[in-house]
Amino acid sequence: MITLFTYLSQKLYQLLDRFIPDAIYQSLGSQDLHRRYRLLVGLSLYNSVSLLSTSISFPAMLKGLEPVGGLLSSLFVVMGLVNLAIPFMLRRINSYKILATTHLFINFVSMVTFIMLTGGIASPNLFILGVIPLLTMIFLGPRFSFVSVVLVVFAIARIEVLGSVELVPVPTAQLNELRALSATIGTFALVFIALFFESARNNTQNNLEAALKDLHMTNDKLRQAYKEAQQATQAKSEFLANMSHEIRTPLNGIIGIAGLLSSTALDQEQQEYGQIIQSSGDALLEIINSILDFSKIEAGKLELEAAPFNLRQSIEDSLDLVTPKATSKGVELGYWVDLNVPSLFVGDVTRFRQILLNLLGNAVKFTGVGEVMVFVSGEAGANGRFQLHISVQDTGIGIPPDRLEFLFKSFSQVDSATTRKFGGTGLGLAISKSLAELMGGNLWVESQLGIGSTFHFTVQLETAVPPHQAPPLPPNHPAMQNKRALILDKNATYRQILNRQLTDWGFACVEAESTQEALASGPLGASFDFDIVLVDQHLPDATALQFAQTAQERFPAFQAPLLLLTTLRQQDEASKQTFKGILTKPIKPAQLFEALLAALSPEIAPTQKPYLAETPLPNPINQTLRILLAEDNRINQKVGLRMLNKLGCQADLATNGLEVLAALGERPYDIVLMDIQMPEMDGVEATRQIIEQFGAERPYIIALTANALTEHRDAYLEVGMDDYLSKPLKLESLHRSLQKASKAIAQHSPRSTTAH
Ligand code: ADP
Repeated sequence: MITLFTYLSQKLYQLLDRFIPDAIYQSLGSQDLHRRYRLLVGLSLYNSVSLLSTSISFPAMLKGLEPVGGLLSSLFVVMGLVNLAIPFMLRRINSYKILATTHLFINFVSMVTFIMLTGGIASPNLFILGVIPLLTMIFLGPRFSFVSVVLVVFAIARIEVLGSVELVPVPTAQLNELRALSATIGTFALVFIALFFESARNNTQNNLEAALKDLHMTNDKLRQAYKEAQQATQAKSEFLANMSHEIRTPLNGIIGIAGLLSSTALDQEQQEYGQIIQSSGDALLEIINSILDFSKIEAGKLELEAAPFNLRQSIEDSLDLVTPKATSKGVELGYWVDLNVPSLFVGDVTRFRQILLNLLGNAVKFTGVGEVMVFVSGEAGANGRFQLHISVQDTGIGIPPDRLEFLFKSFSQVDSATTRKFGGTGLGLAISKSLAELMGGNLWVESQLGIGSTFHFTVQLETAVPPHQAPPLPPNHPAMQNKRALILDKNATYRQILNRQLTDWGFACVEAESTQEALASGPLGASFDFDIVLVDQHLPDATALQFAQTAQERFPAFQAPLLLLTTLRQQDEASKQTFKGILTKPIKPAQLFEALLAALSPEIAPTQKPYLAETPLPNPINQTLRILLAEDNRINQKVGLRMLNKLGCQADLATNGLEVLAALGERPYDIVLMDIQMPEMDGVEATRQIIEQFGAERPYIIALTANALTEHRDAYLEVGMDDYLSKPLKLESLHRSLQKASKAIAQHSPRSTTAH
């Protein structure tokens, strides 16, 4: 019996629950709300049935009283239908309060009408009015319940005043007793329901309060944990910065001295050892830089710089860096930049090059034979920026499909054998991907095991404003118009790139893979009539020199200039004699253009250099500059002084900020190379005091520091230092910085104390 009852009530609840909005189940304290919704649905359905059935009995009850009977009947039908609609509206308009009020109001009206019809103030049905405040209490809470009590009292007063409408026979005493009994039971039942709901509400309230307390406690714990995590990140960043500083200082000694060592008279074995020290030092430095970068990206602290840079130049610079390794492995390097891609952009060229170099370095590292090619295309985006798409394509070992997804995770390599064979940390791609994303782009890979890989990345960059725009290489140059060129290279991609480039300048091109193909299938048959021939040094069936000789023998009339394409920097005399120009791969369009022009029309070539892609060679350093080196570490003093000697400069030494000030007081210096961390007075404080004491007459100050973070560099420049060199010191960067300094000094450029 109980199971049947439970089963039936469950079924009933399921039916009622269908009308309840889902959100009610998900809200906090939903139990109480849920029950009220259920009651509203249940009562509405029950009342609709009761009102509709009562309306049917009206015409019979009120016989002879038309049209009142008809009117009342219609009123009850409408009220029944509204009650029926309430459950369906709950989900739709999701406005519980309005629907509950409507329900209460309808029932109030129907009850008053019913009481009026069954004896007025004497009606045994009067008690049911008590239901209204009770239900109001359940549905809308005590405040509304108070209002409804007032309404009910008012209604009873009205019924008293109006008297009854004796339309129905006065009930017998027996019936009255029965009604009184049922009224008492009904009242008890209602009180019980009210108490039940009140206790449920209390329960929910308690639950809510407990949950809230828990929530507050969890929040406090979270806040504390967040604070601790922030402190930990801060500590980690500081630790990394300090560690990097500490490691850089001795590394400066190792790399610097190894560099100096290898330029002294050493036997071959010693040379080799020196080189190993240097390359190990470089590798260590690279790892430190990677870890530092990675932690900066992780902490969201990496800031990109925005300065104009030449895209083609930076690609060529990056290629230059990997050329020696590619050449030593016999891997061909080349690149193609679509013509619609502008040259000058505003962005962080260092980070851009970092991505490209990482991909290029990997491509060369993992390619044994074949080629590594860089393709650049792009289009202007809707946001006014240019979307660049760079792909680095190799014919290397490829990557297994199941490893592709792990490639961009930090410290991940294809397998541990990779580390043993090729080295690396597995951080490069993770950093590159983050950098590309920071620049508004992405990085991804396509690869086939044993065939090769193509790494793509996109970045969004602003194009530089027109005054910075370098003149592009002119398409359809008059000297190259309709000239016939033969491109002779075993590498198909290379032939294609050269063909595209030359065609753009106005040439008509023919490609050939080998000597045999070239000599056999000249477009003009036996005449071999070309205006220029570009020939790779190593053809499948001959060398370039042999080709030149064979061509000359076979076609005595053949006079066209020959350009040699090579990966070697040094050429023998015979080649220098035979070829009009020698171009080192990867071939730079600017150089190619110049070589073509020089070969075709030597008379106009020198005056018509239409582009200045190459940066002019730096001037030698003014050796009369008076330089003061401030450095406390003995080994680094030696490194610094020897490097300066190598650049032809002399320098005096100071070991801390106080000594710098003393030295400046004795004699004027043009340049101070200022270490930052020194005992007694550090470089920053010394700079402050120099600016205070000497004002515009102060020397040019170059910070020397092992702190590799950009924010530190900015801080040094803000103090008033003019330039910044990071340790380990490299001869080239010292050279560049001194050059910049001597130029600034020569121009007597007013050096501001805040900017650089
Ligand atoms: P690593 O410092 O080890 O080179 P990267 O993140 O740059 O770190 O590369 C992760 C791994 O991805 C490499 O160790 C290598 O296994 C694989 N990989 C990257 N580039 C290539 C490529 N061009 N060809 C084949 N494998 C590659």
